[in-house]
Amino acid sequence: MFENLTDRLEGVFKKLRGHGVLTEEHIAEAMREVRMALLEADVNYQVAREFVDAVSAKALGREVSQKLSPGQQVIKIVHEELVDLLGGSAEQIRLDGPQPVTIMLAGLQGSGKTTTAGKLAAQLKSKGRKPYLVPADVYRPAAIEQLQVLGSRLDVPVHPSTTDSKPVDICRQALAEAQDKHYDTLIIDTAGRLHIDERLMGELQDIQRAVKLSEILFVADAMTGQDAVTVADTFNKNLEITGIVLTKMEGDARGGAALSIKRVTGKPIKFVGIGEALDALEVFHPDRTASRILGMGDVLTLIEKAEAVVDRQEADRIAKKLKRNEFTLEDFLDQIQQIKKMGSLEQILSMVPGINKLRQLKDAPQPNEKELVKTEAIIRSMTRKERNNHRIIDAGRRQRIAAGSGTSVAEVNRVLKSYSEMLKMLKKMRGKPGAISGMKRRK
Ligand code: GDP
Repeated sequence: MFENLTDRLEGVFKKLRGHGVLTEEHIAEAMREVRMALLEADVNYQVAREFVDAVSAKALGREVSQKLSPGQQVIKIVHEELVDLLGGSAEQIRLDGPQPVTIMLAGLQGSGKTTTAGKLAAQLKSKGRKPYLVPADVYRPAAIEQLQVLGSRLDVPVHPSTTDSKPVDICRQALAEAQDKHYDTLIIDTAGRLHIDERLMGELQDIQRAVKLSEILFVADAMTGQDAVTVADTFNKNLEITGIVLTKMEGDARGGAALSIKRVTGKPIKFVGIGEALDALEVFHPDRTASRILGMGDVLTLIEKAEAVVDRQEADRIAKKLKRNEFTLEDFLDQIQQIKKMGSLEQILSMVPGINKLRQLKDAPQPNEKELVKTEAIIRSMTRKERNNHRIIDAGRRQRIAAGSGTSVAEVNRVLKSYSEMLKMLKKMRGKPGAISGMKRRK
């Protein structure tokens, strides 16, 4: 996500850094380019204009800091303004107050409501809450079924809605049922249309009047850019939404919806969907996102993800092996498993600071999910003995491994070569104090 904008902004800042002293003209030119970059990212026209006006005013008025170069100061201001544009601080959903709480998901058809209902249920369940999924889309029998399937996968109860009931009645009944069974969070999945229509809006307003809603989350497909923003605005005017879920963010290289929706609607993005899987829902953090847009990576999210999947004992074991130069192909395979648990390579890499610049270098290795799968297959086709001592893998063994993994000898050679290079690099790192032992120190 945001790759195009990151590229463009990096170009602007590179030019700025080239000037020892920044004049008003330099800033004006940079801001013209920032504005173009925002418009190309499909940011709302008015929003882009206000953004560069705010940055210009601050850049010209700010006292000169001794610590930062003029170029860095402008980047800092752009970062601050981006955080503000994206909503300031992260907003959690409201789960306190009288229980059960009710969360209604609304949005156009195909925006990702049902999937998000499942993702939310999974996330809330893992936090110890007792969610109750309520299908209130009575027009498509498949919609009820889709939620039932999700519910049974997640082991979360689903209200037995039928297509002959009115959505508002379903919600009333579901609330009574939740009170009776002590479910603490209703997640209501509503019907969507291809376009906004009055009947749909009326139906949602009926639910809003009949059931006290803690959250009305507007679900929008980030890939639809400014359309998502316009539709969000209409829903907000009719329903007073409390927050936004932007789905399919992982595929949105432009980012225009994310950058405009808060300013236009005044309502915060609370979650982002970053994949079809049920764990691909993240709380939206404006500050981390701003850092990512500016190519500074998102180390905090990376650490959180690593902490969620990395087994501490395993990490200690690997750190010890690395120290003693005993990191084998067997350990390499374990590491691949851990990385896979954190998400797609593309997602993980997007959080690494400076990755965009690195990728632009000639001959830079490009992350490739298929390569990872191949590497895994190749290592799996080795015997345990081979994995623990790669030196015994001669030409004959290479041929066998290639055949076993459905790859070629050249590909087996490539894996062995990267592994040897990794060992060499680790050896170098061991010479540097703290380079590897630092991995162990983090608690
Ligand atoms: P609804 O009509 O609003 O209920 O939309 P669905 O939940 O049925 O989702 C429509 C399609 O979008 C499905 O194929 C989902 O798997 C997909 N989808 C939902 N959220 C995401 C997301 O965050 N990323 C991606 N890539 N696909 C998503």
